[in-house]
Amino acid sequence: TTLAALDRVLTGCRACPRLVAWREEVATVKRKSFADQTYWARPVPGFGAADAAVLIVGLAPAAHGGNRTGRMFTGDRSGDILVAALHDLGLANQATSTAADDGLELRGVRFTAPVHCAPPDNKPTPAERDTCRPWLVRELQLTRPTVRSLVVLGAFGWQALFPAVAASGCWTVPKPRPAFGHGARAVLAAADGGPDLTVFGCYHVSQQNTFTGKLTPAMLRDVLGAAAVEAGL
Ligand code: SF4
Repeated sequence: TTLAALDRVLTGCRACPRLVAWREEVATVKRKSFADQTYWARPVPGFGAADAAVLIVGLAPAAHGGNRTGRMFTGDRSGDILVAALHDLGLANQATSTAADDGLELRGVRFTAPVHCAPPDNKPTPAERDTCRPWLVRELQLTRPTVRSLVVLGAFGWQALFPAVAASGCWTVPKPRPAFGHGARAVLAAADGGPDLTVFGCYHVSQQNTFTGKLTPAMLRDVLGAAAVEAGL
């Protein structure tokens, strides 16, 4: 399997009944400003460089963002904030992320999420998180040759990541498991003889955090920049 093949197969997944129903319902009801658009309404695959050195792991696609545009962190405020920060660092060719055909290219960076379908209230259940885990495990294995650091946006992604890392067989999960926090940093030793992985914690780029100033553009840039340096970008 290649990463591109994985992304293709993923888009046909219907393993979580509640999320399948929600992603399709959102596409029927729509938001007024998008009334003339056809929503993607399927699992949203990872997006970015095929040879990514930095993985950015979010939570799940937004109902009217990724679930509408079919591309992760695309079509909502969260995506714009994240991509603007990457552009500041020279890791994106443009500062906005509006549509799947907007020309955005990431340099050495790939977006993904532990849950690939939009959940009601942005809250997947633990069962849905576990059901989606094999996709992340496979993605970690396929990106293994090039990935050196990983930025996790928010506590949900942080909790979801470590079981996937353990299942991947690529790196060892430290005991006790590192705690999530903004600026948290953990080095996971290779389990397969390859290079180690440095994991960075960052508050999620949700509007809840960015509107309130809990996560400022400078804070986001600092973590992304540290991850890029660590990965040699
Ligand atoms: Fe499949 Fe993951 Fe979507 Fe569940 S959340 S239906 S496992 S892609």
